[in-house]
Amino acid sequence: MSSPEEKVVRSDAEWRSLLSPEQYRVLREKGTERPYTGPLTTHHETGNYHCAGCGALLFLSGAKFDSGCGWPSFMIPADAQAVDEHEDLSFGMRRIEVTCARCGGHLGHVFPDGPRPTGLRYCINSASLTFTKAER
Ligand code: FE
Repeated sequence: MSSPEEKVVRSDAEWRSLLSPEQYRVLREKGTERPYTGPLTTHHETGNYHCAGCGALLFLSGAKFDSGCGWPSFMIPADAQAVDEHEDLSFGMRRIEVTCARCGGHLGHVFPDGPRPTGLRYCINSASLTFTKAER
């Protein structure tokens, strides 16, 4: 397993062969899955959420909450270094895009309307994530 600092760089053809069409559309083309359709939106098992592109650990189940927005929502990433945040002015809105720090894959957006203590809602596409159940 590579360290989080090591970037994963693949060609477009490699990403297309590795990802499902929906994963490719979201991760590599900054797509958004339709709300309430992602399998991890109402998923409550204890475990870890990894990047569907490169496997990096992104979010822990303890930070997941029911936002009612239709996408998996987290109060904080597993590690501050795990994700990158960028201003996104597309669609006439000012939003903060969240990407995987290791592979650059699009994950979703972060909004300042989450619960305490962070006050943040990381609104993340299911298609960008894979879940691994905690041992125990
Ligand atoms: Fe990644």
